[in-house]
Amino acid sequence: MTTPNNIPAATAGGEAATSEAASDFVRDIVAEDNRTGKHGGRVVTRFPPEPNGYLHIGHAKSICLNFGIAGQNAGGICHLRFDDTNPAREDVEYVDSIQEDVRWVGFDWGNHKFYASDYFGKLYDFAVQLIKLGKAYVCDLTAEEMIQYRGAPTVPGKESPYRNRSAEENLDLFARMRAGEFADGEKTLRAKIDMASPNIHMRDPAIYRIRKVEHHRTGNQWCIYPMYDYAHCLSDSIEGITHSICTLEFEVHRPLYDWILDQLKTPCHPQQIEFARLNLSYTVMSKRKLLQLVEEKLVTGWDDPRMPTIAGLRRRGVTPEAIRHFCARIGVTKYNGLTDVALLEHSIREDLNKRALRVMAVLRPLKVVLTNYPEGQVEELEAVNNPEDPGAGTRKVPFARVLYIERDDFMENPAKKFFRLFPGNEVRLRYAYIIKCNEVVKDANGEITELRCTIDPDSKSGGATASRKIKGTIHWVSAAHALDAEVRLYDRLFTVEEPDGDKEGRDFKTFLNPNSLEILAAAKLEPSLANATPEARYQFERLGYFRMDPKDAKPGKPVFSRTISLRDSWAKEQGK
Ligand code: ATP
Ligand code: MG
Repeated sequence: MTTPNNIPAATAGGEAATSEAASDFVRDIVAEDNRTGKHGGRVVTRFPPEPNGYLHIGHAKSICLNFGIAGQNAGGICHLRFDDTNPAREDVEYVDSIQEDVRWVGFDWGNHKFYASDYFGKLYDFAVQLIKLGKAYVCDLTAEEMIQYRGAPTVPGKESPYRNRSAEENLDLFARMRAGEFADGEKTLRAKIDMASPNIHMRDPAIYRIRKVEHHRTGNQWCIYPMYDYAHCLSDSIEGITHSICTLEFEVHRPLYDWILDQLKTPCHPQQIEFARLNLSYTVMSKRKLLQLVEEKLVTGWDDPRMPTIAGLRRRGVTPEAIRHFCARIGVTKYNGLTDVALLEHSIREDLNKRALRVMAVLRPLKVVLTNYPEGQVEELEAVNNPEDPGAGTRKVPFARVLYIERDDFMENPAKKFFRLFPGNEVRLRYAYIIKCNEVVKDANGEITELRCTIDPDSKSGGATASRKIKGTIHWVSAAHALDAEVRLYDRLFTVEEPDGDKEGRDFKTFLNPNSLEILAAAKLEPSLANATPEARYQFERLGYFRMDPKDAKPGKPVFSRTISLRDSWAKEQGK
């Protein structure tokens, strides 16, 4: 596998970050257009979210593509445009979160932020123009009747009885639609194209509908709203977009995109280019489904660390660099497929491996008393902060007579190939001594409460037996010095590869992983973590990458979340 070297850096002023992503067919088209001077050498792209949910990792692919292309081309610009034409599902909370997330991923639209709702007046005027050209009409068919009249891909549609209204009548009715004379659904404005077209989207699609709903920006100024296909091409044209990049399902809408701009003879006719959306295994990406998880409280919110949202990934401890790297790695193609979530996880590990400080933490503590270590004695042992980064230096970790080790690192009756601690066996304590287990102490219920062990006093670094070969090395913390903490372990949110593509028609929630969150309330951390911040990234040795939760950690009550475990199934597959 190749490792692309692009890490676009955030820039200001509306010119997007520079990106050295490998070329792809979209970039090739842009380069060719630049060579031929098709758009006068200009490159203007846009990222056009509907503010009806939080952005997810699929949107990150589109963000990196649109802002990336603008950044790679001299003078290139990428607009952030809110496609806010469906007031019923939109909210300012989403507008705000989208801006925060795009910036966080590493891109800046400068002063090129727009809203489709800014163009409601112009879009209305364009519709009047279409009516005057005899290219649009007011239709009284109900939604159900429209579906019946539309036909099927192999069956031509039927013309609406209202199709041949005069321009005067249409102008009058459209003005009255706007004035609020009719109820929701009573009338629509439709483009007059071709009811027999093999492309269903060309069979007189609705371009305006009545919706008496308050809009988060225009309030009650409008009670008719433009449909997506109509608003999108005209918004692109108004903004002087050169390349309108969208996902593959819009390929069949392209004739309509072009038809509308052709009828209106707009001076700017952007080129629509479709690419394959990101689909990730073990993940749902539809905003409608993500909203359902939030509303039904199956997750704690849009920023739940198990969500594939940018806000969730950020809270979990993923960095923007990891996300951009992942997007560069998956590339841009014309073929829909399923990307293995292990590749995202691999990108996250690769990034954290470079930056994470190594520390020791015990998640499920088991007490160990070192019977030959003097009571009251404390040694400060040197530990390496990051073997990947010599500049990260070392720190001191206190060692004393009573320690905690991980419950999993001890077995009273060891399984085959268990090389950690068991009665009579030795292990090395990381950065410290070799210890031997001599006695297992239990309570009245037979639960193990304590191990009594002895150290080999010459086995620590610099000692006579320091290099003695021992099969297992385990982590530990000093009981007297340890910090108490809550630790949250996250697993994939779904148990199957394609949670929304079930052939038996089962609901995606059937596949929720009941063990996607495990809370360990009594973890013990090495004392250096007293100064931890949510900005820092840690590797808890042998356990994974962790960060302090920015929302729930309180002074004196640290909460850490596992961003990702250490086991890398992707790298393993590649190595085979
Ligand atoms: P969803 O299916 O999650 O509701 P959407 O396409 O309705 O997504 P928009 O807000 O319209 O969401 O998306 C904004 C932009 O992001 C669009 O240009 C869209 O093509 C792109 N986009 C959305 N989902 C993906 C994805 N999975 N992969 C790549 N690009 C995507
Ligand atoms: Mg959409």
